[in-house]
Amino acid sequence: MTRYLFTPGPVPLDGRVSSVMAEPVAGHRSREFAVLLLRVQNRLRDLLRSAEPVPLIPGSGTGAMEALAVNFTGPGSKVISVSCGVFGERFREIARRCGAEVAPFDIEPGRPCLPEDVLEACRIHPDADVLLLTHNETSTGVCNPLEEICRALPKERPLILVDAVSSLGVVPLYPEKWGVDALASCSQKGLMAPPGLGICWLSPRAREVLSKGREAPTVFFDLKAFLSGLEREEPSVPYTPPVTVIRALDAALDGILQEGSRKRFTARRRFARSLAAGMESMGLKLFVEQKEHRSPGVTAVEIPENRAEDVRKALSDIGLETAGGQGKLKGRIFRVGHFTREDWPEICLILGSLWAACREAGISLREPDLKNIREVYEREDVPCGKSL
Ligand SMILES: *Cc1c(COP(=O)(O)O)cnc(C)c1O
Repeated sequence: MTRYLFTPGPVPLDGRVSSVMAEPVAGHRSREFAVLLLRVQNRLRDLLRSAEPVPLIPGSGTGAMEALAVNFTGPGSKVISVSCGVFGERFREIARRCGAEVAPFDIEPGRPCLPEDVLEACRIHPDADVLLLTHNETSTGVCNPLEEICRALPKERPLILVDAVSSLGVVPLYPEKWGVDALASCSQKGLMAPPGLGICWLSPRAREVLSKGREAPTVFFDLKAFLSGLEREEPSVPYTPPVTVIRALDAALDGILQEGSRKRFTARRRFARSLAAGMESMGLKLFVEQKEHRSPGVTAVEIPENRAEDVRKALSDIGLETAGGQGKLKGRIFRVGHFTREDWPEICLILGSLWAACREAGISLREPDLKNIREVYEREDVPCGKSL
């Protein structure tokens, strides 16, 4: 039986991405690797529309978050942590363990973090030097309006560090234009590459803070070491990188840029909105009520009577892997990841399977209203994003 991976990372790989991983492993001090590294840098810069360096940190998204936290926070720094879910809490916990004084600002799960929330948090803590934000909160399926948040903040503001682990490659993300200071992301979600790499991006302001700051209490995550390697004419990395994953990331980025990132962002949002319309037509409730803040990459849906795990198991029995609710949300919701190239056939597959899985679990739903869903799908084929 075919198994379908609808988890919010890792994601199924395109054939070309898998096949480049069969190529011989290049030594990381070779000219061949320097050429590969430069090409990946340029492709990531294209996607982010910024010429700033993009350090690749072996590990995962959490590793990239830790790299930011350990380099920019620590004993003596005050950090505002705005959180609307599990991953916001993780960023906070990392900063706490780095020794920073953390000022929490919590938003109820399912709701977005809005400009007024962040302004309020900054007003309460005018002495903070760092602000932690989550772009796309994967645990609840909310995508926060990062551009508007940054625009609303005054010029005198803390250094803005953003968890972009599940937004890069899925939604427009232009940190330089928006005024973000640093990003943490990964290879295995919106970029459609295998797991193994954390990805950072740093603004000129962030690099200045680094160069004036203390020595980082880490060797492996020392961003200065990664940056100085990238500044060379033949770029290099400080420690042995996952060469094969970098090769795969290169192929995946090539695919994204060939398709056109704007087209891709439109397709992801269109998929999410069609899927949401389908679930609602069956009588289910989406966890994020405000439509415009629903994530184009992951959809969280509530299942009546806390039966989400039963439904998820029934889905798994017919070959669809999805993700459960995390923490307090376990049982109440489950999540469908759609970071890759899911399209109309997958909408039918997911909705039909969900209908059957719910029936299996003893929950009766209306049949999905395909005519209406198709209308949403046709209507949503319009370029997205104000900043495109
Ligand atoms: C997946 C995810 C993480 C953690 O990434 P790992 O690669 O599993 O370490 C952090 N933040 C967000 C928003 C995520 O979706």
